[in-house]
Parts: sequence; structure tokens; C-alpha cells
Amino acid sequence: MTTIAHTSLAAALRAAGFVGRLVEQADAEYDTARMGWNGAVDRSPSAVAYASDADDVAAAVRACRSLGHPFTIRAGGHSVSGRSVRDDALCLDLRALNGIEVDAERGLVHVGGGALLGELDAATQEHGLAVPAGQISHTGVGGLTLGGGIGWLMRRHGLTIDSLRALDVVLADGSRVQASADEHEDLFWALRGGGGDFAAVTSFTYEPRAVGPIILAGVLVYRWEDAEAAFRATRELIGTAPDELTIMNVLVTAPPQEPFPVELHGSRVVVVGIAWCGEIAEGERVLAPLREACPPALDAVGPMPYTILQTMLDGTAPHGGRYYDKLHYLPAVSDELVAALLAGFEQVPEPEAHIVTGWMGGAVDRVAPGETAFGHRGAGAFTWLIGASGDRPVEPVTEWVREVWRETERFSTGGVYVNALDDGRSVRDAYSDDIWQRLVEVKRRYDPEGVFAGNGIGPVG
Ligand SMILES: Cc1cc2nc3c(=O)[nH]c(=O)nc-3n(C[C@H](O)[C@H](O)[C@H](O)COP(=O)(O)OP(=O)(O)OC[C@H]3O[C@@H](n4cnc5c(N)ncnc54)[C@H](O)[C@@H]3O)c2cc1C
Repeated sequence: MTTIAHTSLAAALRAAGFVGRLVEQADAEYDTARMGWNGAVDRSPSAVAYASDADDVAAAVRACRSLGHPFTIRAGGHSVSGRSVRDDALCLDLRALNGIEVDAERGLVHVGGGALLGELDAATQEHGLAVPAGQISHTGVGGLTLGGGIGWLMRRHGLTIDSLRALDVVLADGSRVQASADEHEDLFWALRGGGGDFAAVTSFTYEPRAVGPIILAGVLVYRWEDAEAAFRATRELIGTAPDELTIMNVLVTAPPQEPFPVELHGSRVVVVGIAWCGEIAEGERVLAPLREACPPALDAVGPMPYTILQTMLDGTAPHGGRYYDKLHYLPAVSDELVAALLAGFEQVPEPEAHIVTGWMGGAVDRVAPGETAFGHRGAGAFTWLIGASGDRPVEPVTEWVREVWRETERFSTGGVYVNALDDGRSVRDAYSDDIWQRLVEVKRRYDPEGVFAGNGIGPVG
């Protein structure tokens, strides 16, 4: 990128009416502004433009399109592969669009395209409501929703997209429309799971569910020698449990801190994460067989505010750490898969790296495949290999993730979550043939030149 091109980009943005802050390469804040959540992604965008409102988003899209200048959209900045920042492309940052308006009377919540999950939870919980979403409170609503949205409430209330009712968007030509079941239905379909390459979303409208404020949740921690038994017992429980129960088993090195008992510090453990969003006493009854069949070394499951559950894992994903991830969808969590995961985790090179295995089903499967663009209805579970190395080099955990992924590939459905695309998979791999064909048609209709290209769908004209 030459200085002349930068100047013309800045001039074009202002001429198009962009009034937000623009951080260019020569500016002191540039080095901070260009970084997303993953400290291993080191890219040099042509500039970072902080949109102040939806008009600004439209102005930036018009300016970039008229110049033929590539851009990416950043909301929470959590894309692990860093697709919200690209070399020599403008990074259009939507974080300032984080207003949240709960319309309790109509049972809707309007959420700015740059809001974070923690902001959404705080606003909805004031009304005893929640939008089912992800597990780390500083993840962006934007990217998470557009890919599907997996989390603690999914078996009872579905994916995040299953609560989505409308989106206010800026199209590739800079015009602003709403997509819903009544308007631009094809775009509405694609934006529910198809990733972020169709439009810039300035506002999401969800129908939140009654949740909490107190739910039954927390962790059961098992010693490594009990790992297989813990997986068998949780699999048995989830096989017959009501949809109110979601379980995620995490292989992790116990850090030297609460709630882990001192004797487990530094040891490999299985953390069984539990969320029950129904009546508390009923949840205790449902969990009793697990506690009896496989008593944990630490039982920290009890009534807690939903907002505490939603921040419980934040410490495992600090900003600026270095990360690399890969995911498998699974038909089932077989004994053979568990043995392979445990063997893989015995080779883990860094204490921050972990493996999350979560059971799906329930409400996720009550939406027919193809009703939204999310490609993995019917998957029994997923296993997410999360390489994390703090401020140390990421290469050893990257190699480890790849190796465990290869060792467990035979248990996979073969699909990949568009929100966990790593360097080795393309967006095409995230969809079945028929969903992909429909996505390409929507792309052709709304953005044939590939103005939005964060995921890599690119031009399809
Ligand atoms: C620590 C961590 C925890 C996670 N936990 C979960 C989880 O529990 N469940 C789950 O399903 N996923 C989870 N993810 C994956 C997460 O859904 C994706 O990384 C997602 O892309 C993050 O969204 P973001 O807005 O923060 O990311 P960004 O990096 O800001 O955006 C990623 C891409 O999304 C698109 N995009 C974002 N906002 C908009 C918008 N308003 N309009 C148009 N396009 C947009 C763009 O293409 C952008 O390049 C997690 C990721 C991390 C790093």
C-alpha cells in the first residue's frame, strides 16, 4: 500500500460521509488498533476505521467499493484465524455499535452489530431474559451469530441464530435494508449460519428466552485416572437427560488457582462443565446419577447467576495470548474417540491449551437441516482443540492441535464450523453441497463482486 493510496482511502472515506475515527499506519495507535484478540495474528491493515453508527458503516462500504479497496469487518475481534484483519485491507471496526435495547413488551432485543456477549447478557438479564450464545463474554455477537452460535443454552433454546428475528444490514452497494422472514428472506436465510460475507450487520434483533437469573451450573473436576469413567458417565447422562441440560467436558491442565484443590494444581484433569436452565431442584435430581456413578474430586456445581456462568471461562481466553484451533463435528462421543483425545492431551505442550467436547442435539436438531444456513444440524457433538501458549511461541501448540486433529479425524462427520475455520480449511468445507449452492446464489444476488470477503467466499458473479 503506498502513501498515495492511503491518502485517497482517507479522502474517499470522508467524501463518502464517514465521520468516525480513522487510524492510519503512521499513527501512534496503529499498532494497538490493528490487533484482534489472537496475539499470534500479526497483520497490517491499510488503516482501521472505527464506525460511529450505521451511516458510517454504509459510508465506508461505499468508499471502499468505489476505490476497489478491500476491507474486513471486525466486531468482537475473536476470529481465531484473524479473518477480521487482513494485510492491506481496511479494517472496519464496529465496536462502537454496541447499543442494546430490550423491548420486553414485544419480547425482542435489538443489539448493535459490534456488541459483545457480556453486554448482551447484562442487558437481557435485567429482564430475566437471555439470548442463547457463546461461552466467553468478550466474544462478539456479530461473528458468533453469523456462524451459528453454540453455547450453554443450545440444547434447550437452540443456536443463537434460532432466536434471530431480523437484521439491519448494509449491502455491498452501501444501501441499508432489513432482512427477516418477511423481507429479503434469502439473505435472512444466509445470514443465519452462512458466515459474514453477505452484508455488514449494524443491528441484530433476537427473541430472547426466559432464563435465570439463577440457574444450576458449574464444574465437576475429575482426576486424570478417572477421565474415561467421567466421559462414560456424562455420555450416559446426556443420552437421557432433558434438553435443559448442556454438558461440555474440558481436558485441561489445572491452573494453580481456585476452584482447583492444591493437590491437582499442574495436573491434567477433566472438567465437566454443567449448565441446567430448568427448575433447580429438578436439575439436582437429574445430576444425581452422575455424581453417584462417578464422584468428582471437586464438585462446584450449584445455583449461580446466569451471568456468572457466562463469564466463568473468561480466564481461559485472555486477549493478546497466542492461539490456534481446529474443530471436529462428531456423530457421537465414542470410547475410541475419548481414548484418542486423552492420549493426545497427554502430549500437550503448553498448560493453557485445552480440548472442549460438547454434546449437541435437543433444540439444535428441532430446526430442520436447510431451514437456516448452519450446516451441522444432527451432529451429536463437537470437539474443539484449542492451542494456547500465552505469550510464548504458538508453533508447538499449533503442531499439537494438528496432530490431535489428524488422530481424531476418523471419528468426525467431516464438517467444520465456519466460526472455527483454520488455515487448512476453506469456507466451502463448512457446508453440505445443497447449502453451499444456496449460499452461492445469495452471494450472486447480493454481492457478486465479492465486496464482502472476510470468509473467503469471494466474487461469484
Ligand atoms: C475465546 C473464544 C471463545 C469462543 N466461544 C465460542 C462459543 O462459545 N460458541 C461459538 O459458537 N463460537 C465461539 N467462538 C468462535 C466465535 O464465534 C468466532 O470466533 C466469531 O467469529 C467471533 O465473532 P467476533 O465478532 O468476536 O469476531 P470478529 O473477528 O470481529 O469477526 C469475525 C468475522 O465475522 C464477521 N462479522 C463479525 N461481525 C459482523 C457484522 N456485524 N457484520 C458482518 N460481518 C460480521 C466478519 O466476516 C468478520 O471477519 C469463540 C471464539 C473465541 C476466540
